[in-house]
Amino acid sequence: MVEAQPPRHFESFFVPGPTEVRAEILDTLTRQVIPHREPEFEAMFARIQAGLGDVLLTGRPVYVGACSATGFMELGVRNTPPGRILALVNGAFSERFALVAESCGRQVDRITVEWGDAFDMDAVESRLASTKYTAVTVAHCETSTGVLTDVASVASLAHRHGAMVLVDAVSSAGGARLTVDAWALDFVCTASQKALALPAGLAFAVASPDFLERARRVPDRGFYFDIVQYDDYAAKNQTPSTPATALLYALEAQLGDITREGIERRWDRHLAMRDATIEWAAACSERRTLDLHLLAPDGSRSPTLSVLMLPPGLKGPEVRAAVADRGFTLGSSLGELREESIRIGHMGDHTLEGLARCLHATENAIAELAERKNIRALVLR
Ligand SMILES: *Cc1c(COP(=O)(O)O)cnc(C)c1O
Repeated sequence: MVEAQPPRHFESFFVPGPTEVRAEILDTLTRQVIPHREPEFEAMFARIQAGLGDVLLTGRPVYVGACSATGFMELGVRNTPPGRILALVNGAFSERFALVAESCGRQVDRITVEWGDAFDMDAVESRLASTKYTAVTVAHCETSTGVLTDVASVASLAHRHGAMVLVDAVSSAGGARLTVDAWALDFVCTASQKALALPAGLAFAVASPDFLERARRVPDRGFYFDIVQYDDYAAKNQTPSTPATALLYALEAQLGDITREGIERRWDRHLAMRDATIEWAAACSERRTLDLHLLAPDGSRSPTLSVLMLPPGLKGPEVRAAVADRGFTLGSSLGELREESIRIGHMGDHTLEGLARCLHATENAIAELAERKNIRALVLR
């Protein structure tokens, strides 16, 4: 027997994926299963298609997979016509996209910038001008650093040089402004457990008509991640193999709530949470004479998460533990940032009020640790 956990109050979990799921949404998971080759399922899938189209701002079919986001990153690569791929790498997840492509046997060149930096679009353009690429991979929001990349600009540069753009929108879709059709993105993938605030296990993808037409001629696309099959089945409001039906119940409920909020308002709420985090970091630094700041530079800060750089002497894991003692879960940072920073996920269904409580607890935890360790900022930024 597993011991029952005490119920957790909502807005205590600020990890940048998986994100907190509201109880009303979790409740839908217990509904009985239905067969997926029957009209009842098809009607639900049609409603889901419409809802996903409103979230992603696309009139294209949205493919739904029973896998994590990485599966659909692989779907994008496997269905890309032969040729070199240019990977824009600015952190762990954009590096993963490059690795996925390499492991599918693709020739990959990288433009790599320091974690926390944004790309210089002139450098991207000159690389595209000097070498012929079939596709460019890019993370819209790099979840390891909190840097948002202007993927509309990447797409227009890529198109100017005859390349397609594959966008990892895993931690941006549903939280940061993203308009798939208007930005002419060739392939976009995302997943359920980030800004859409659903349990993990669903991946979503959209392909442009051009990407799909060219995919039809790609040899050895494999079977499970053949986008042509996804498209054929989506036309019948079905999926090629067994869907994660229980998760689709949750998705349908959540899409209803997102539609009621309105996608523009949802983006605005995320921007407000980001700005509140920036303001809090500055005010907290002043109040406590400690240097706290966001890793991402001004102008590239994601609305969905912040990497908070800690004052020298404070370690990410101890800060997370002290915040956990106060009832809030923050994200650990990845790679070399793990010790010197923490990640705050302010995405999904979180509110400004809930975030303020979390930041208040974080400030108290940091102040107490700093006091105990006798840390003061040497230089205030
Ligand atoms: C979380 C995340 C992924 C990986 O998602 P999985 O669902 O774990 O496969 C990929 N890219 C970005 C930007 C992410 O935030």
